[in-house]
Amino acid sequence: TRLNVAPVPPDEIFALNGAYGADTHPQKVSLGVGVFRTDDGKPWPLPVVQKAEKELVADDDLFRHEYTTIEGDVPFLRLARDLMFGFEGKDSEEEAKARIASVQTVAGTGANHLGALFLGHHMKPPTVWLSNPSWANHMTIWELADVPRKTYPYYHAATRSFDFDGMMSTLETEAQEGDVVLLHACAHNPTGLDPNKEQWVAIADLCERKNLFPFFDSAYQGFASGSVAEDAWAVRYFFTRKPDMEMCVAQSFSKNFGLYGQRVGAYHYVTNRSSTSLRDVVVNNLCHLIRGEFSMGPRSGCSIVKKVLTNDQLTAEWHQDLQVMSSRIKSMRKALYDELSRLQTPGTWEHIVEQNGMFSYTGLTPKQVYALKDQYHIYLLKSGRASISGLSQKNVAYVAHAIDNVVRN
Ligand code: PMP
Repeated sequence: TRLNVAPVPPDEIFALNGAYGADTHPQKVSLGVGVFRTDDGKPWPLPVVQKAEKELVADDDLFRHEYTTIEGDVPFLRLARDLMFGFEGKDSEEEAKARIASVQTVAGTGANHLGALFLGHHMKPPTVWLSNPSWANHMTIWELADVPRKTYPYYHAATRSFDFDGMMSTLETEAQEGDVVLLHACAHNPTGLDPNKEQWVAIADLCERKNLFPFFDSAYQGFASGSVAEDAWAVRYFFTRKPDMEMCVAQSFSKNFGLYGQRVGAYHYVTNRSSTSLRDVVVNNLCHLIRGEFSMGPRSGCSIVKKVLTNDQLTAEWHQDLQVMSSRIKSMRKALYDELSRLQTPGTWEHIVEQNGMFSYTGLTPKQVYALKDQYHIYLLKSGRASISGLSQKNVAYVAHAIDNVVRN
């Protein structure tokens, strides 16, 4: 071969999923991949999405499978922007909207990637700061964009809590002007720990004072708390703060619409002044990168989102669906916590109910994680991250019993 290739380690999540699929044990439990599941362990196409799909077919739009434009489906992008930045239903605020350049991406991953590529080309940050730990793909994405990577402390293992002081002091002393700081908008993956509002304000102060560039990754808006406004609080705070800050947001619709495989997302670059000509030149440069890579974002999933968000009744139903998902996850957190308390499993487990979103960073060690898989056919990440939606009324007692055993041994 002319290739210079060495094996790349398999992606842990997808490898774990494969191992789970191949396991024939009747009580196996998947707590790996971050997808919503019903109490029967089944996928849950959102009822509102099923309705919207039927309407789309009935519309019989001749253009349904045609090309869009390089920037994507423009009405969809406006709705995505309004949802993220809080303009829902407001025709005013043209000045604020003129700060935001939006393009359609291949879901949240594509938005992170396009953003990294764009900043790599046009801002040349000395370093991007990622939380330690973070979604593993952040490392890959910024590595491919050839931007030097460093990490800031995020997790305090002894107290199983957010290491706010560690994060602030590292960024304060080591970050340089022009660096990018990657922030999870809500439901931090993998720890489930988010800054509180006061801490967000301090993070924004720090970014402003040291001239750091905030890059928000928003993958769980509405999915985490059930409220789209609550989950967008940090993004909206940074956006509305004065003086205007330059920032960007990678937005995913995979979890909050259950459109995982449809690859629906957007990238929003926010400039520090209201200027439609600046906004247009940013879009134009983003389009150049998009054209050379995938020409335009996929159409079908964003038509579904557009259908829902342009209809008040469907939007209300979507909010109900978000409640169904977020409350099931919260109730499974509680169920696991209650079982561990009942068993008096050594250690403290309050963090399971206090953490937010899809995941719990359980605090289980790699050895305990291995034992769960080996002895109990329960699959979670080596880091101890468990995807809570893999729990159900039927398996939670079994999982708690297994955790109790591996912790005691
Ligand atoms: N960012 C974070 C933090 C995530 O957890 C995810 C989903 N696992 C994504 C981005 C991207 O998801 P997708 O590409 O499926 O929209």
